[in-house]
Amino acid sequence: MNNRWLEDRRDGREQSDEEIAAFIQALVNGEVTRAQAAAWLAFVYCRGMTAEETVALTLAMTRSGPTLSWPGLAGPFVDKHSTGGVGDKVSLILAPLWAVLGYRVPMISGRGLGITGGTLDKLESIPGFRTDLSADEMSRSLETVGCFISGQTSEIAPADRILYALRNETQTVPSIPLITASILSKKLVEGLDHLVLDVKYGSGAFMPDRESAQELADSLVRVGSGAGVKTRAVLSSMEQPLGREVGNALEVKEAIECLQGGGPADLRRLVVELSGRGEEAEQALDDGRAGRKFQEMVVVQGGNLQELQWEGCESWTLTASRQGRVSRCQAGQIGQAAFLVGAGRSHEGQAIDFGVGVRLHAKVGDFVEEGQSLAVLFHRGRGLDEAKLCLQQAYHLEP
Ligand code: URA
Repeated sequence: MNNRWLEDRRDGREQSDEEIAAFIQALVNGEVTRAQAAAWLAFVYCRGMTAEETVALTLAMTRSGPTLSWPGLAGPFVDKHSTGGVGDKVSLILAPLWAVLGYRVPMISGRGLGITGGTLDKLESIPGFRTDLSADEMSRSLETVGCFISGQTSEIAPADRILYALRNETQTVPSIPLITASILSKKLVEGLDHLVLDVKYGSGAFMPDRESAQELADSLVRVGSGAGVKTRAVLSSMEQPLGREVGNALEVKEAIECLQGGGPADLRRLVVELSGRGEEAEQALDDGRAGRKFQEMVVVQGGNLQELQWEGCESWTLTASRQGRVSRCQAGQIGQAAFLVGAGRSHEGQAIDFGVGVRLHAKVGDFVEEGQSLAVLFHRGRGLDEAKLCLQQAYHLEP
C-alpha cells in the first residue's frame, strides 16, 4: 500500500468509503505495519472523522470477517448493547422478553473486564450453560426459542480486535469515532433490523458524565442508522449500581426475579424503557411469559437453573455508623469491591468466582438507622480487606 491514505488522514483530508475499506482490508491482510496503523489511529484521535467516514469505517470493520444471516427466518431481528456498568443484568432479561414480544434476538455478548461485568460470565454461573453456540445452533435457537445469548467467535470483526489492541497501547481508546465503529461493527455482524443502545454514565461507567455519554449516543445513533439499522439510544446513570445484586450468580438470581414480575424498581424501569414496548413488556414480565422464555433459552443452551448456587461463600456486613440518609452508593467502588473478592477479571482468560459479590441493602435516598446493614459482601477470603475498604468508601450518609 502506498502512503497516500496515511498522509490524507494526517492532513485531515476526507477519505472515501473505498479508501477506508481498502485500509481495513490491508490491515487484516497484514499489509499495514503496526507503526502505520498506530499513526492512523493517532491522526483519527486528534483530527476526528466525519459521520460519513465513521459509517464507512464501521461497515468496513463489520465486513472484515464473516457476518451472520438468518435465511428462512422472519424478523424483525433486534439486539441491544450496553456500554457496561456495575450490576447491569439487563441483557439476561431483555433477550427473552423481546422474544415473547415477537422479535428474534441474536444476542452476541462479551465477557467482563475490570469492574464491568459481562453477560457471558453471568450466564456461565448457571451450570452447563453454553456460550459457544455454532452458527447452526444460533439459527436453531432463533427458530425454536426466538433468542439466544452467545459469545463472539474469534473470526467476528477481526479488524476491531487488531485496532482495539493498538488503541490500548497508543492511548487512543477515548475517541468517539473509534469507539462508535468498534461497538457497532461487532453488533452489525448479527444481521439486525433494530439496535437499542444503553449508554451509561457515572462512576461505574466508561463515560464519566452525561454530556460525554450524550455525544457517544448521538454518534452511535447517527452511524448505526447510516449503516441501515434502526438505532435508538437510552442514556442511563451508573452513579450507583443497577438493582441490588452485583456478582455473577447473584445477578442471575435478580434477573430471574425481574423476569417473574419482581425485582428492584430501577432494573425493571430500565428493562421496560429499553424494550420500547411499555405496557406490553410489563405484562409479559408480570404474567410469567418472560420468565418461562428465559428458562426455555437456558435449557436449549444446556444450562440447569436448579443447580445455580452461590453457597460456600462467607459474608461480611457493612453497617451504618450513624442514622442518616444514603447520599452516595458509588458504583465504581462497589464494582471494585466485587472485583477484588474475585467476581471480575483483570486480564482476558482469567478465571472468575461465580459465587462472590455484593448485595446492597441500602441505595441512594434510603433512610437508615445506626447499625443497620448497608451492604453484604459475599467472599471466600481473597481480597477481603481491600474490598471492605472499597465498600466503606462507596457509601456516604448525610444526617
Ligand atoms: N467497547 C468496545 O467494544 N469498543 C470500544 O472502543 C469501547 C468500548
